[in-house]
Amino acid sequence: AKSAGRGRVVVFDPSMRAAVVERRELERELQGALAGGQLRLVYQPVVELDGSTVVGFEALLRWTSPSLGPVPPDRFVPVAEDLDLIGEIGAWVLREACTAAARWRRLPGGRDLTMAVNVSAVQLASPDLVGQIAEALAGSGLPASALVLEVTETALVRDPDAAAERLAALRALGVRLALDDFGTGYSSLSYLRQFTVDVLKIDRSFIATIQGAHLPPIVRGLIDLGRTLDLEIVAEGVELEVQRDQLRAARCDLAQGYLFDAPLEAGAAERLVLHPAGA
Ligand code: C2E
Ligand code: CA
Ligand code: CA
Ligand code: CA
Repeated sequence: AKSAGRGRVVVFDPSMRAAVVERRELERELQGALAGGQLRLVYQPVVELDGSTVVGFEALLRWTSPSLGPVPPDRFVPVAEDLDLIGEIGAWVLREACTAAARWRRLPGGRDLTMAVNVSAVQLASPDLVGQIAEALAGSGLPASALVLEVTETALVRDPDAAAERLAALRALGVRLALDDFGTGYSSLSYLRQFTVDVLKIDRSFIATIQGAHLPPIVRGLIDLGRTLDLEIVAEGVELEVQRDQLRAARCDLAQGYLFDAPLEAGAAERLVLHPAGA
């Protein structure tokens, strides 16, 4: 701690200074990322647990900054929100993902593919979102029923009434809604009662607890809950064969994870649609 005059004491160590400098650089670089063509989407296959057929993809945002290198979305999406850039970036993500999905659905074997897009709390709160989605669908020709919007509980907790209204408007467009990272929030169950969703994505922290022949009771409970509510269930972060086998035995519908595929560049995703493994 050092005295900063006028009786104020500021605690400032070198690591904090480094963090501030880094954040400023990230902010500066992010301003031009979209226009500079530095953003792209990768696509992680969503597979059916019996048979491993690809039924859709989740679009995941990537940023490679010329000066900072690859920056993970967990780090730059919050910054984009603070800088008010998320509206523009989010609209681009929706257009890009819908366009890719519409194209892949025209390929042999691609007919029923779905595309999932992540929507942050700030995006969900924005009055522009519904229009952006309608435009992305109209512009690409993707049927609304093929688009899944992934929202987290965090996005719903801030202003539940506004969120409920927004979700209703989105469902009226015909898109499907997924509750992402399910089980990690404080009040998952009350959200299921309050908001109508179509898909539950069981967070990978739960999937990671599957390590042997025995299915942890909480995972079974989450799957049973989803089934009771007639929701589609997606297990996230499946990395091990034993996890796939246990989930399959518990009749979980769908899965994503490194065991099947990591997020793929657009070209690789398209080749997977054209030439499914084993076909
Ligand atoms: P998320 O929606 O929960 O995405 C899943 C994350 O898990 C992705 O990280 C994915 O690469 C990673 N993953 C997939 N399979 C496995 C696995 O088997 N094991 C492990 N350990 N990880 C796996 P990623 O791409 O770094 O994305 C992180 C988060 O950033 C996402 O979490 C999502 O909340 C956010 N995000 C990504 N793209 C977008 C976007 O376009 N818009 C918004 N608003 N947020 C995005
Ligand atoms: Ca997600
Ligand atoms: Ca997730
Ligand atoms: Ca997550």
